[in-house]
Amino acid sequence: MQNWQEKKRSSFRWKWALLFVILVVASAGAFRMYSLRGQANLPKAGQAASAPRAAAQAAAGGVKVLVLNYHKIDNTHHSLAVTPADFESQIKYLSDHGYNSISPDELYEGLAGTRELPENPVLITFDDGYKDNYTNAFPILKKYGFKATIFAITSFLGKYPHYFTWDQAREMEKYDISIQSHTVDHKSMTDLTDEQLREELVDSKKKAEEELGHSVDYVAYPTGTYNLHIAEMAKEAGYKAAFTIKYGNVDESSNIYALERVPVFHTVNTNRDFLERLKYIPIFAKFGWSKS
Ligand SMILES: [Zn+2]
Repeated sequence: MQNWQEKKRSSFRWKWALLFVILVVASAGAFRMYSLRGQANLPKAGQAASAPRAAAQAAAGGVKVLVLNYHKIDNTHHSLAVTPADFESQIKYLSDHGYNSISPDELYEGLAGTRELPENPVLITFDDGYKDNYTNAFPILKKYGFKATIFAITSFLGKYPHYFTWDQAREMEKYDISIQSHTVDHKSMTDLTDEQLREELVDSKKKAEEELGHSVDYVAYPTGTYNLHIAEMAKEAGYKAAFTIKYGNVDESSNIYALERVPVFHTVNTNRDFLERLKYIPIFAKFGWSKS
């Protein structure tokens, strides 16, 4: 039987053992995240087109774009929801601090060097196509004159009440809200056969193009899961670029079929954490963690 001191020592050892395990798991995760970036045998964003890079931007140290990733904008306690009030203060912050919202085409052309991007470019993205994007986020974006991009699950629009309709999609597009693909029905892509993958990528593109009357060139991988084979298939399906949930800024060393984003969701202090997320990104570069 253990005496009090032995019990205390044993619980002390357990705490250290647990801390050690957590550290090992966390560093393995971080290593995997950075080594995955290196493996991608896909064109770098800066090589996406052959035209010469805008001289001014090259002189200023290259293109760097903040890509924010939202899901729901409502007052529920859904883990991916941001309240409309918090969303408005975030957009106001970006507006007050000289951020300029851009479209996915502008991002693509900026990375390819065929267009000069505005100062502090930000691409605001939403995944899934929730109805609240139309009812809650759209009026705020309109009020501040901000562009945004919604990656919609094409078979859910007009079918499920929690998703906006194609009519609403067309209305938003008139105000610089670009609707792009988030596949046909949001299956985790790493579980699919090649035939199913092709259907998810090609059929969603076709459906959105028919409904919207323009070419749909960008896709966000559902749940962020992807691998290099899936990235190659996105390219084959005719997309110009694809978005993940890898944390970071997009720049010329990014893989054009695995672009980084910064997720935004509610926390105990959503707006403080939003600002920290904006500020933390340069730290990645400061410590010399390279993407290539
Ligand atoms: Zn999604």
